[in-house]
Amino acid sequence: MTNAVYSPAPGQSAPAVSTHPGPAASGSVDTERVAELIGQLLAALGEDPGREGLADTPARVASWWNSFLSPEPFTAVTCFTETRLSAQLVVVGGMSVWSLCEHHLLPMNLEVVIGYLPDSEVVGLSKFGRVAQRHAGRLQVQERFTRQVAEEIADVVGGKDVAVAVHGTHLCMSMRGVRMEAARTTTLQVGGLFKHDPVLSQQFLTLAVGQWGAA
Ligand SMILES: [Zn+2]
Repeated sequence: MTNAVYSPAPGQSAPAVSTHPGPAASGSVDTERVAELIGQLLAALGEDPGREGLADTPARVASWWNSFLSPEPFTAVTCFTETRLSAQLVVVGGMSVWSLCEHHLLPMNLEVVIGYLPDSEVVGLSKFGRVAQRHAGRLQVQERFTRQVAEEIADVVGGKDVAVAVHGTHLCMSMRGVRMEAARTTTLQVGGLFKHDPVLSQQFLTLAVGQWGAA
């Protein structure tokens, strides 16, 4: 994880009341049933689920689904008091998470960059990675993931001045359909001053693109 600190044009972040309900709870996974169905899937695909290489595959796949859909529980947010920060832009990048596209059940890699304007408290940096990880651990689309991360970070920092940019690589584009190996999808969700201050917004985008090695 990398961290960049920047000073934007003067501006004060406005406190906000958040209505974000928190991440959706994932249902518990019936691993036995999933294993059974994977065995049936293998048979329907013309495989012999009993052959040596596949014998443990259903249990292994079921166990993976269970861990993928059981993200870390919500933990208390670590904040550090730091006064005189009101004009500073904090950008946290280098966070890469894996999720599953809900349309094709194929993996997508999401590189996440989060920016915010701390008021009198800064948020522990590891928190950002955990938020991204938790929202990735479900069937997703990149656009919704970006919004959910932005909403939770706004809750965590207690303000609307949050920007989230996500650079996604989707296997459903790379290995099926149009098979465009190099295709990338970028999504951006901004709130508060990031929406209204073009200089701040541009500073965030410049730092975000820098995190992705520019493209
Ligand atoms: Zn897809």
